[in-house]
Amino acid sequence: MTKFEPVLTRNTRYPDSEKIATYLAHGGYETARSAVKMQPDAIIEMVKRSGLRGRGGAGFPAGVKWGFMPTDAPQKIVAVNTDEGEPGTFKDREIVERDPHSVIEGVIIAAYAVGANRAYVYIRGEFFLGVKRWIKAIADAYEQGCLGKNIFGSGFDLDMSVHRGAGAYICGEETAMIESLEGKRGSPRLKPPYPAQIGLFGLPTLVHNIETLACIPHIVGRGPEWFAGIGTAESKGPKIFSVSGHVNQPGNYELPLGISLREIIYEYAGGMRGGRALKAVIPGGASTPMLTASQVDVPMAFETLKAAGSELGTGAIVVMDETTCMVEAACRLSKFFAHESCGRCTPCRVGSVRLYEILERIRRGKGQKDDIEFILEIARGIDGNTFCPMGAALVNPARSAIQHFRDEFEYHIANQRCPVSGKPN
Ligand code: SF4
Repeated sequence: MTKFEPVLTRNTRYPDSEKIATYLAHGGYETARSAVKMQPDAIIEMVKRSGLRGRGGAGFPAGVKWGFMPTDAPQKIVAVNTDEGEPGTFKDREIVERDPHSVIEGVIIAAYAVGANRAYVYIRGEFFLGVKRWIKAIADAYEQGCLGKNIFGSGFDLDMSVHRGAGAYICGEETAMIESLEGKRGSPRLKPPYPAQIGLFGLPTLVHNIETLACIPHIVGRGPEWFAGIGTAESKGPKIFSVSGHVNQPGNYELPLGISLREIIYEYAGGMRGGRALKAVIPGGASTPMLTASQVDVPMAFETLKAAGSELGTGAIVVMDETTCMVEAACRLSKFFAHESCGRCTPCRVGSVRLYEILERIRRGKGQKDDIEFILEIARGIDGNTFCPMGAALVNPARSAIQHFRDEFEYHIANQRCPVSGKPN
């Protein structure tokens, strides 16, 4: 049990939490009903004052993003990102499967505030149940007058539909998602222009992750000061942390930003499996640099994780115990990124594969004397030299593993076996 009040997961404790009847029975859509009678600028101001930052990985201030939407454009769009594909992250899936109406309510408020009359949901194609739940929830919201023409008798119209992705990690990047929504190959666009200027179908588009949108009804309903009272100076509000790996109780835990990594692992996730020692943690999904056991007291917030040499990312915590081979961990993660490179730019397309190949040969006991320097040199060649942020992300597993566990890499190369298992991998 958590000692903190559940906010984003509040409705999931009710049976049939995904159904509109359940949502309405617990006050659902009442905030949207009031919001569509407010001045749009007042809502944008509330979101700015709340300090809400995007929950999809980048952490950009949501209210600032809303403020970028032009006021004079005749047509605008809200695009809802449910393309959750970051290894270790499974919070969005739970939101869409268990509480899709909280997101629809957030979309209504966001669309009204920025003057959009069309919303598209982009969902990871493998989320079969999530797709079904989204489609059903949208249909039920139309039936109840929460979507469509003249919502709540306010004169505000909003249409919403679902689009399934086809299994590309890069479509979680907002401009690649927009390309995919337009029916093209999911490949990132050059920025600027940003989606708020020229987005989906050439129209100004507000793109948000669904956890971000699920925060909106609470900010507008309970006030921005209440929301900003949760968390730290630069990281406000509640957050759903996905915890996986060598813990006794993996799962999603909604906790305030700023809670320590130690508290999440040992108090909420039940501690280390088999009582083994903690070795390393990825704090924010596969693309964020690893931390070591000595850093376990770091508060889980944007600013503190940055200071610790990592990032909050999606808040997906992957826990590794003393039996983990760090060469193998880095190798597996690098294989994922090599597979998911969209191939548009050379440093990512070629560099990601070369990184994986070198890690794989070290793992198999075939490492060569200069391989560690070779990895670091390739990482330098990728980082900052790619078209989209995936380049900077894909070097993190190998580079942080070498930074913290260089002796393991050296042992693998010198002895052609793993120092953890004692065997060639
Ligand atoms: Fe594609 Fe990688 Fe270049 Fe991004 S960095 S555009 S994913 S090749």
